[in-house]
Amino acid sequence: MSGGWLDGYAVLITGGGSGIGRAVAERFLAEGASVTVLGRDADQLDDVVRGAADPSRVHPVTADVRDSDALHRAVAETVDRFGKLDTLVANAGVWDYQRQLTRLGAKELDTAFDEIFSINVKGYLLAAEAAWPELVKTRGSIVMTLSNASFYVNGGGPLYTASKHACLGLMRELAYELAPKVRVNGVACGGMNTDLRGPESLSLDGRSIGASFAKRGPDTPPPPIPLHDSSTDPRDFTGPYVLLAARDQSGPITGHAISVDGGIGVRGFGSAAGGDHL
Ligand code: NAD
Repeated sequence: MSGGWLDGYAVLITGGGSGIGRAVAERFLAEGASVTVLGRDADQLDDVVRGAADPSRVHPVTADVRDSDALHRAVAETVDRFGKLDTLVANAGVWDYQRQLTRLGAKELDTAFDEIFSINVKGYLLAAEAAWPELVKTRGSIVMTLSNASFYVNGGGPLYTASKHACLGLMRELAYELAPKVRVNGVACGGMNTDLRGPESLSLDGRSIGASFAKRGPDTPPPPIPLHDSSTDPRDFTGPYVLLAARDQSGPITGHAISVDGGIGVRGFGSAAGGDHL
C-alpha cells in the first residue's frame, strides 16, 4: 500500500497476537507498515500472518516479554527482515480482575505482584532497552499501551492499577531520556472486549475479560462514563496509535498519553453524561 500514514514503517508489537495488539497490527498493516508480532501463543501469531492481505509483511516471534534475550532477538529479526525498526508498541499485559487488597493473602500478593509487574512494567522496560539503539537510527518512537488504570482507581485492583501508573511514569521518564531522537508516548485505553487474562499466580489465567463483556445483557447498566454507548471493539481504539507512530503527523509530540476511555476524566457527579436527555 502507498499513501498510508505508516507507509514503509517497520514496527515491533508485543502482545500482537490478540486484542488491541492484534488490532494495532492489522491497522498498521493497512497503513502500509510491516509488523513483527511478538507473543507467547504461536497459534495466535500464525493466525495474524494467515489473516494478513500480504503475509510477507508480518513476522511472528514467539517469546515472553520477561525474556530480554528474546526481545533482543525480536528486534534483530525485525531489522533483518524489514531493514530497520521505526516503532515499538509495548503492549503485552495481564489484568488482576480488580482483586482488592482485602481479598488477597500475603503470599498471593507476593507472587502476583512479581508476575504482574514483571509482565506489565518490566516487559515494557526490557522491550525499550532492546529497541532504543535501532529507534535512534530511524528517529523512531515508542507507543505504550496504557490504561484508564494509569490515571484512575477501580480499573483494576492495587496490583494492576499500580503497574499501569508505573507504565505512565516509565513513558514520561523515557520520553525525557530518549529525546530528541526518539519520541515516547502512550495510548490510555478504556474497557475493551479482548482476551485479557489474569495472572497464573492467582489461577486467573484461564479467564478472559471478554467473558465479562459477553455476559452483559439488555438490563446491564451502562458504564458510568460520559460516552457510555461508545465501542469496546479494540479496532476502534487504534487511531491514536497510528497518529503517535507517524512522525509526519505527531513529530512534536512526546511524553504524552492520549486517553481513549469514553471521557472518564469528565464524568459528572449527578450523572455520568450530562446530555442523556438530548
Ligand atoms: P489480550 O490478552 O488480548 O492481549 C495481551 C497479549 O499479550 C496477549 O496476546 C497475550 O498472550 C500477550 N501476553 C501476555 N503476557 C505475555 C508475556 N509474558 N509475554 C508475551 N506476551 C504476553 O488483552 P488486551 O486487552 O489486548 O491487552 C493489551 C494491553 O491493553 C495490556 O497492556 C492491557 O493492560 C491493556 N488494556 C486493556 C484494557 C481492556 O479493557 N482490555 C483496558 C486498558 C488497557
